[in-house]
Amino acid sequence: MKILCIGRNYADHAKELNNPVPKEPVFFGKPDSALLRPNQPFFYPDFSKDIHYECEIVVRIKKIGKYIQEKFAHTYYDDLAVGLDFTARDLQKDCKEKGLPWEKAKAFDGSALLGNFLPKAEIENPILFSLEKNGELVQSGSSADMLFSIDKIISYLSRYYTLKIGDLIFTGTPAGVGPVKIGDELEGFIHGKSNFKLRIK
Ligand code: MG
Repeated sequence: MKILCIGRNYADHAKELNNPVPKEPVFFGKPDSALLRPNQPFFYPDFSKDIHYECEIVVRIKKIGKYIQEKFAHTYYDDLAVGLDFTARDLQKDCKEKGLPWEKAKAFDGSALLGNFLPKAEIENPILFSLEKNGELVQSGSSADMLFSIDKIISYLSRYYTLKIGDLIFTGTPAGVGPVKIGDELEGFIHGKSNFKLRIK
């Protein structure tokens, strides 16, 4: 299983980090050891002082595919959840400045929190999702504001990677990213319904 993540897929988030709005999807990967399943705690790593949450819609691939045409992409997934693309913003800034890959800022253990999958047939479109930190709304997004739709992302990624059953795609975060500290509680929602809850330890 691999985890693929899209960066800068919402114009408002690209702006908040002073990044240009991309003309084609920006992507990166995380290893399977990055996965944090629902109800597992996140342990604040010792190598960063600025871990940020990024709440994102996550797609689970259900069949193998390569060079998937956009018009058929919807047949490659049935289940959606929200998750968190945890990012060591201080390390990422350093990597960006030095022109180095982002892996250590993005792909560390526990950096890919996954909520509980729901059948896409049961989720209204556009998909509205949100994140609360300690009971306060910090991020809210709509799939309608994605620069690149889920189907476009699947088609694009499948040019570079054979997509396999169980692969996860994190589809990018809207504006409102911010830091977490030990003791914080994060809760993600799809259409106002709780999809995951986790504690920073
Ligand atoms: Mg992200």
